[in-house]
Amino acid sequence: MPQVRVRFAPSPTGPLHIGGVRTALYNYLFAKKNKGKIILRIEDTDQSRFVEGAEDYIIESLNWCGIHFDESIVDGGEFEPYRQSDRKHLYSQYAQMLVNQGYAYYAFDSTEELAEMRLRMKKAGVPSPQYNSITRNDMKNSISLSVDEVKSKIEKGEKYVIRIKMPRNEEIKLQDLIRGWVVVNTNNMDDKVIFKSDGMPTYHLANVVDDYLMKISHVIRGEEWLPSAPLHLLLYRYLGWESKIPKFAHLPLILRPDGNGKLSKRDGDRLGFPVFPTEWINPEDGEKSSGYKENGYIADAFINMLAFLGWNPGTQQEIFSIKGLVDAFSLKRVGKSGAKFDFDKTLWFNQQYLRNKSKEALAIDLQLILKKNNVNVEDRFVQEVCEQLKERSTFVKDMWEEGKYYFEAPTSYDEKTIRKKWKEDTPKYISELKDRLSEVSDFSSGNIEVEFKKYIEENELGMGMLLPAFRVSLTGLGIGPSLFDIAALLGKEETITRMETALKKI
Ligand code: GLU
Repeated sequence: MPQVRVRFAPSPTGPLHIGGVRTALYNYLFAKKNKGKIILRIEDTDQSRFVEGAEDYIIESLNWCGIHFDESIVDGGEFEPYRQSDRKHLYSQYAQMLVNQGYAYYAFDSTEELAEMRLRMKKAGVPSPQYNSITRNDMKNSISLSVDEVKSKIEKGEKYVIRIKMPRNEEIKLQDLIRGWVVVNTNNMDDKVIFKSDGMPTYHLANVVDDYLMKISHVIRGEEWLPSAPLHLLLYRYLGWESKIPKFAHLPLILRPDGNGKLSKRDGDRLGFPVFPTEWINPEDGEKSSGYKENGYIADAFINMLAFLGWNPGTQQEIFSIKGLVDAFSLKRVGKSGAKFDFDKTLWFNQQYLRNKSKEALAIDLQLILKKNNVNVEDRFVQEVCEQLKERSTFVKDMWEEGKYYFEAPTSYDEKTIRKKWKEDTPKYISELKDRLSEVSDFSSGNIEVEFKKYIEENELGMGMLLPAFRVSLTGLGIGPSLFDIAALLGKEETITRMETALKKI
C-alpha cells in the first residue's frame, strides 16, 4: 500500500465547529494508525468568505485538542505552500488544460444574465434551473459563441469564468469507504465553475489539484461534500490522473440531541453548551461564542467524546486516551447514519477524566481560579481539597463554586438544613462536641470520627441528627464530602472557631 497521506482542509471562514474538529480527529487517528502523515491545508480560495483571525483560531484550537500535523502552514513540508492563496499561480494551467481538451469552457455571462436564465427556466416549468448541457447553448460561452468572438472578448479583457462541461447522461460511480457504492447520473449535475474571474480556482478545482499534487491517499471529510465527489472524480479523469484518485470516506453528520437536523451554533446557545472547541470572538460584531476549553473541559475528555460521535470500538470500553484511540480506530467502524450529540455524555466524559487526574495536577488548575478570586493558600492544602472534592465534581471550577468553605468560613447557613436538623437541643450538643474536639490532640479524620461517634453514642443521638448540624456549622451547607476529612483539613483551631461562630449566628 502506498504511504497513507490524509489532509484536513478547512476554509478560514469562521471558528471550527465540533463537526470540523471530529473530521480533523478521524483524519489524525487514521493517519497515525496507518503510520501515515496528516496535512493541514488552508482552503481560502473564496476570498469573499475570508474571516480575519479564523486561520489562527483553527490552528490554535486544534493544538489545544492535541491534534498535531506533520505538514502545515506552520511546520512547512515537502509540498509547500499549504495555503491555497499562496498556491494561486498553480491552478490556472490545469483549468487551461481542461479548456484546451474540451472538458471545460469559458463563460462570459453576467450576474444579471444568469438570473434571467433562471427566471426563464422557472417560467418554463423547471423547478431548479442549472447551467448545464441544456441551458449552456443559450448562454454566452465558448461553446455557443464563435472562436473569433471568444478571442475578441478575451482580448478586450472581458471577465470570464471557466466551467466544467458536464457530459450528458453518464453514470459516475464512486466507492465510498463508509457508504459503499454511490452512483450519480451527470444529468443531475451542473456545469460548475472551476475557475473564477478573480483569477482564483474554486474549491473543486483547487481541492482536486492539491490532493493530487500533495499525494493524498485518502479523503476523509464531512457528508456535506458527498454531492461534490462525483465532480471531483470527473476532474481526476479529465486531468489524466485517474490512477491517482484517492479513496473517499464521507463522515456522518453530527445531529442535534433530538436527532432533528445538523447540530448548529443556535442549538448550542439554546440548550446551553458550546459547539466550538475554544472561544471565538467574531471580529465583525464582537459577538462571543463559548468554547469547551474556556468552559473548563479537559481536552482529552472532549476528544474522547468526539471520537464516539460516529465511531465505536465494538467493545464496551468508553475511556480512551488519544493513543488508545489511534490503536482502536478503523473507518470500518464509522457509521453511515448521523450521530446525535449528547451533552450529558459530554459532562460524564469530563467527570471521568477529572477523577483520573492527580490531586497535584488538579491543584494547579484550582490555584488559578483561587488566585483570580484573591485567595492565597498553600499548594498542599489545595491538593487535599482537590482530593476530597474530585469525586463530586465535573469541572475544576465546581471545586471552587461548591467548596468555598474550605477557603473561607461560611457567612450563611443552609436554611433547609437548619429547619430540619437544628433543633432546640442542637446548640447544647454542638457546644459539647466542640469541647470534646478541642481535647483531641491528633486532629486526624479518624480521630475526629471516633470522638464524634463516642459523643453521639453516649447521648443516644442518631448520626442523622447531629452530623448535618455539625456539617452546617463548619461549611454552611447540607451536603458535601466526608465531614471528618473536612474538619481535619481545616484543622482544630478553625473547626472550633467555626463551631463557635455557628452557635452565635444560627
Ligand atoms: N475546504 C473544505 C471545507 O471547508 C474542505 C472539504 C474537503 O475536505 O474536501 O470543509
